[in-house]
Amino acid sequence: MAVPKPYFPSRSLFAKIERRLTQYRIAARAEIKTDKPVLSLTFDDCPISAAETGAKILEEYGVQGCYYIATGMMGQLSVLGEVTTADHVAQLALAGHEIGAHSHTHLDCAKSDCDEIYADIEQNIQQLREILKTQSIESFAFPYGETRFSVKKNLSNVFMTLRGILPGINRGVVDRGQLRAFEVDKTEASFERAMAALDSLAEEPGWMLIFTHDVAENPSDMGMRPDQLRAVIEKAQALGIEILPPTAAAKKVGLAHA
Ligand SMILES: [Zn+2]
Repeated sequence: MAVPKPYFPSRSLFAKIERRLTQYRIAARAEIKTDKPVLSLTFDDCPISAAETGAKILEEYGVQGCYYIATGMMGQLSVLGEVTTADHVAQLALAGHEIGAHSHTHLDCAKSDCDEIYADIEQNIQQLREILKTQSIESFAFPYGETRFSVKKNLSNVFMTLRGILPGINRGVVDRGQLRAFEVDKTEASFERAMAALDSLAEEPGWMLIFTHDVAENPSDMGMRPDQLRAVIEKAQALGIEILPPTAAAKKVGLAHA
């Protein structure tokens, strides 16, 4: 199987401006009210290493994460390694991890036609429902972190939480249509930034999300190492930060449909 080429969202000036404006336009105003810090550990696209190595580490520490699944990628080879199968996704859910939506074809929600986006996400939800049987789909992560105002507004009627990729801790008034999250990728700087943010979260409670892709000794550019995942969990637990999947975290911090 040939590894498909990675897709890069538009870097044009217009796209950059649009992206900047979109992040400041709140589509689904919500408020976070918590005196306890909460962290969610999330994995996008779910390569096998995240479902196996990643989940095993979480379970060692007695915590659950969230896996955002692009159903059309299941069983495929990707730049992140082989992507997990439907059976494996069902096992993750049985182990208590949350399964979130991530579109069926991993499409760019800033550029694609609206009808195409909604049909694609509908297919994603349908397939996840068939796989999970019982667990409802409350969370969504934008592929590539890309979105636009009308899309995040419409999708916030479908999902309780929508996760973007802009770094930051969610505190006070937030957009639950584009929640902030720290990426941990192959770079040491991204890991150090997330570790430093944990101190800030413990000091001033809120809801922090971390996302990565694969979990491997030699991760892809978008993945992290097992020892880094352990270090994040150990630090959070030492600081008294509760680790919960997004839907449980949203309830814990008092986030509700506005
Ligand atoms: Zn993705």
